[in-house]
Amino acid sequence: MKTIVANWKMNVGVRESVALARGTLLTVRGRKMIPELIVCPPFVALGEVKKVVARSAASLGAQNMSSEDSGAFTGEISARMLQELGVSSVILGHSERRALFGETDEQIAKKVQQAFAHQMTPIVCVGESTEERDAGTAREVVRNQLAGALSNTRLRGSDTLFVAYEPIWAIGTGRSAEIGDVLEMHAFIRSIVSEVFSDASAKQIRVLYGGSVNGDNAYQFFREEEVDGVLVGGASVKLNQFREIVDAAAEVLEAQSPI
Ligand code: PEP
Repeated sequence: MKTIVANWKMNVGVRESVALARGTLLTVRGRKMIPELIVCPPFVALGEVKKVVARSAASLGAQNMSSEDSGAFTGEISARMLQELGVSSVILGHSERRALFGETDEQIAKKVQQAFAHQMTPIVCVGESTEERDAGTAREVVRNQLAGALSNTRLRGSDTLFVAYEPIWAIGTGRSAEIGDVLEMHAFIRSIVSEVFSDASAKQIRVLYGGSVNGDNAYQFFREEEVDGVLVGGASVKLNQFREIVDAAAEVLEAQSPI
């Protein structure tokens, strides 16, 4: 299976989200083999987009949520609220949230626990900055982020956990990571999960790549067994580009399917 997570960020309103959800579903219509699609609209559009994707090939994801269960946290959205809206996955620890809103590994760990407690799949984002890569500390950074996010969490056999490797320098820059570096980091991510949980969990988790994925480079990621899919920002709100990414995933899935 290959997965495409579409992170629409704060780029679309409610009406645009509904139209984009319809367009996104059209990109998989009539295909023999389709990737798993998770669309992540802004909070305010979740309810309307749920109506569009209900009983479709796509499921609903959120872009963030509170680390708290309930209470006096003005402006926050809890896991319970998302669950009520039919959200099944949630992006956690995106680098924009870490950098712009000061999210810490401790908060992200609490969010991961909240997600599992409410039967949602966490999509935990990790990745180094340019300076950290240049300084040779990319692996250390990713290790700390991931071990931090998974602390005090237990992964049961039925849980799904996505880890998205998203080098910060590749997000929204048009400069995706080299496939060799992606494969190395994905294997490293599995080794951390094996240390934190077990070898079985390392096989169970799904590892995505994110950072300037587009129609031109998507195939090289999908064709690798080590890459379970991609997290797409900019190209997910441009349907012609998103369709090309879906094309690439479908091509790989068709080539892999038994005749
Ligand atoms: C992202 O925001 O997680 C992302 C990968 O964005 P983009 O595809 O635009 O680089």
